[in-house]
Parts: sequence; C-alpha cells; structure tokens
Amino acid sequence: MNRDHRTVIDDCGAEDGARQEGGSNQAQLERIASHVRAILVELGLDLTDHNLKDTDIRVAKLYEEMFHGLKEGSEPRVTTFPNEEGYSHMVMEKDIPFYSMCSHHLVPFYGRAHMAYIPADRIIGLSKFARILEFYAKRPQLQERLTEQVVGFLEEKLHPLGAMVVIDARHLCVEMRGVKKPGALTVTSAIRGIFHQRPVRAEFLDLLRRS
Ligand code: ZN
Repeated sequence: MNRDHRTVIDDCGAEDGARQEGGSNQAQLERIASHVRAILVELGLDLTDHNLKDTDIRVAKLYEEMFHGLKEGSEPRVTTFPNEEGYSHMVMEKDIPFYSMCSHHLVPFYGRAHMAYIPADRIIGLSKFARILEFYAKRPQLQERLTEQVVGFLEEKLHPLGAMVVIDARHLCVEMRGVKKPGALTVTSAIRGIFHQRPVRAEFLDLLRRS
C-alpha cells in the first residue's frame, strides 16, 4: 500500500523530478498546478498535510492526460486504403471503452462506443476506430458532441456509403450529485448516409446485440 502510494508520487514528479523538466508544456503544467493550489487554499485545506503534497501537480498532469485531444498534432493520422475487395457490407467495431470529462462539471463520463461504416472506395484499419474515439474523448466533452464528432470524422475521412456511432456512458455528474441516479446509462447515436434507412440501422443493432 505504502509502496503503491510512493510510486504514484514518483510517477507524478516530486520536486526534483517532473517539476524541472523543460519546455512550454512544463510551464503550462506549473500554471495549472498553481490554479489547483489556489482552489485547495480557497477550500481551507492545509497544504502542509502530507496527503496533499504534490496534489496540485498531480491534478495538472491528470488534466494534461485527460485533455490530451486538445493538443496540436494529437489528431490521429488515419491512413485509408482502397477498397480493393469491393467490400460493401457493414464494418463494425463494438464495445470500445473510453473515458472522457464532462464539459459542464469536469468530472468523468465513461462507457463504450460502437462504431460502424459501410465502405465505398476507401477502408481504414480496425485499430483506428479506438484512436479516433480517444482523440475526441480526451477533452472537456459532451456525449452528444462526442458521438457526432466521431461519426463526422469517419464520414470526412472515408466518404463511406454511411456510418453510425452509438455510445452508452455513465456520467458521474449525474450519479454523484444533483438527481443522483447511480448506474443510469445515457445512450446517444449519430448516423450518416445509408444508415438513415431503417433496415441498415436494424442490421447495426442486430450486430450490436450479438455477444
Ligand atoms: Zn456534467
């Protein structure tokens, strides 16, 4: 237990570690940490409490990681390939886990995304689905917008016959505060092209139901 705790502190950079790395990233981390520190002070917390030692920098690093999608150059390079096989059916990747932060409260919402498209001339590697999702999830986000952005990305890069994304997620801002509905799932969907046709959507849902 102690050892684990120590590891966390080491990973997050004690005074001699991460705080001395160079570059503008470090300057930004320091600025975020100083704002976090101000919040803790405002809350009346005793910053000499050893449990709060380096909390400011840990939170700053957490934000850097959780909001990584905002960084310039973080958009995934998605190479598309010619659809040489002439595949014209649904390609689906389902149950892709993700973690994001709700832009209203900056607390996590997390769940699974199910993404599908029906190719026209271009296809993408299956691993790219998760990278696209990650890019849009790692920022202050709304589930509705996340769903739209992911399907929009597929459309823009692939020009498929159609695409569909369904996301189901738990929102800690709903579960921890306000109406307090633990376990409630929010489901959003976004569709493009041929997925506007009911039988195509039905096929998506059928594939989704299969274990
Ligand atoms: Zn929220």
